[in-house]
Amino acid sequence: MKPRIFADNPDDRMPKTNDRRPATEQPSVRIGYGFDSHEFRSGIPLKIGGITLHHDKGLGGHSDGDVLLHAITDALLGALAAPDIGALFPPSDPKWKGADSAIFLLEALKRVDDEGYAVSNIDASLILAAPKIGPHASAIRTRVAELLGVRGDCVGLKAKTPEGLNLDAAAIAHVVVLLKRVPHKRSGVRSR
Ligand SMILES: [Zn+2]
Repeated sequence: MKPRIFADNPDDRMPKTNDRRPATEQPSVRIGYGFDSHEFRSGIPLKIGGITLHHDKGLGGHSDGDVLLHAITDALLGALAAPDIGALFPPSDPKWKGADSAIFLLEALKRVDDEGYAVSNIDASLILAAPKIGPHASAIRTRVAELLGVRGDCVGLKAKTPEGLNLDAAAIAHVVVLLKRVPHKRSGVRSR
């Protein structure tokens, strides 16, 4: 038996890559999941969720190392079954070195819009030993909501310390996102 994935359209089968169905056959909601991790390094600013936090180390690696925005970007792309952040913005390309990760999130969001969807809500878990996220959680949620174009109460954010994981040198983000189909839009056609 072939796999079936869309409960609201039980006769539909797993679409082949690049298959595009008519908007009327698109599911009304799509879920996406993103994961990312970066290693702490001295001498660079710490950016999480588009906010610069005061800390003696930042996150190295791709662009500005914003682990939360990267995981959100991958969750958005994953919900569309689109190529992931590393495929769209290769870390080997020097033009992304130090880049503002909001660029990646906004490109993913444009694709969401192009496909006729909008963000319903997201939920994120950050795992890092330091700094404490609590005092900055409100600012991070506000900035993420602003980037996504949703209300602040549509952005869930939990911060955990990596108890028993021996991962104090890294920051990790897990994100799930729910997209809802925007009824007046047609897939692949901009409304403006
Ligand atoms: Zn990353």
